[in-house]
Amino acid sequence: QKEALLALVDKPSITKDGRRVELAANIGTPKDAQGALRNGAEGIGLYRTEFLYMDRQELPSEEEQYEAYRQVAEAMGDKPVIIRTLDIGGDKELPYLQLPQEANPFLGYRAIRLCLDRKDLFKIQLRAILRASVHGKLRIMYPMISGLEELRQANSLLQSVKNELKESGIPFDEEIQVGMMIEVPSAAISADLLAPEVDFFSIGTNDLIQYAVAVDRMNERISHLYQPFHPSVLRLIRHVIQAAHQHGKWVGMCGEMAGDPLAIPVLLGLGLDEFSMSASSILDARACITSISYQEAKTWAEEVLQYKTAEEIVEFLKGKLGK
Ligand code: PEP
Ligand code: MG
Repeated sequence: QKEALLALVDKPSITKDGRRVELAANIGTPKDAQGALRNGAEGIGLYRTEFLYMDRQELPSEEEQYEAYRQVAEAMGDKPVIIRTLDIGGDKELPYLQLPQEANPFLGYRAIRLCLDRKDLFKIQLRAILRASVHGKLRIMYPMISGLEELRQANSLLQSVKNELKESGIPFDEEIQVGMMIEVPSAAISADLLAPEVDFFSIGTNDLIQYAVAVDRMNERISHLYQPFHPSVLRLIRHVIQAAHQHGKWVGMCGEMAGDPLAIPVLLGLGLDEFSMSASSILDARACITSISYQEAKTWAEEVLQYKTAEEIVEFLKGKLGK
């Protein structure tokens, strides 16, 4: 069993009928890149950069960030690395920013909202990422975008940072892909309006589920309502993938759901292009992808979308997978 899985380390993630997807890893520090590679990651689908900012007294400098991003880029070589820009706030605090307490931190001043307000801090991160982009295949991803205005503001700031680098003769990857997370329901619903202005989407189900069903992802008492297989969640995911594909853009997923063995066939069937998960789940996911056909996964996805409750959906999938 273990041996069979290890044999999949450098195999492509390809279904029996030839659909290839990418299985990538979520990481929190540059060191994690080694574990990702050992577990057969074809890229980094989510580098959570907030850990660079946490457990310290002050903001990390541009140089410090550049070093971290360069390390990951070099470790991964020609494999893509998606660097998520700072996603602080919500459950993650930065004492030195002295942010006021909020009644609803998950609905508050966090992630891209903070970055678009503190452009000084955001620009330093963008500069560091762009400078590191000559050392590998980096991609930029914004968290918590809720609509087109925020996306445009972030992109225009990125453009101004690129212009500054050009004027100073500092090299960067001019073709760098720029995408956004889909983790706010408004972004999922209007994915068709956002798709033309990004290179890719990555669905952040951890937040998308909590906002879609209004269930705090940290609250144990209501955790039974936190349901990835809620028909509304699956409909949102289907819509996002369809909207992106209609505009010729690819779609990944970097929430926990991407590594859930029950969810993988459905997500594959819905057309998901990239699955990013904790490194330890990758080989199991590859075993799953290589053992089914895309055609079959599509029929499962269609059937699942007919059911009316999460319970029916989970029952159906467990039956299919013999669990
Ligand atoms: C998500 O929301 O699904 C996600 C991947 O981001 P985080 O878990 O860091 O909020
Ligand atoms: Mg999130």
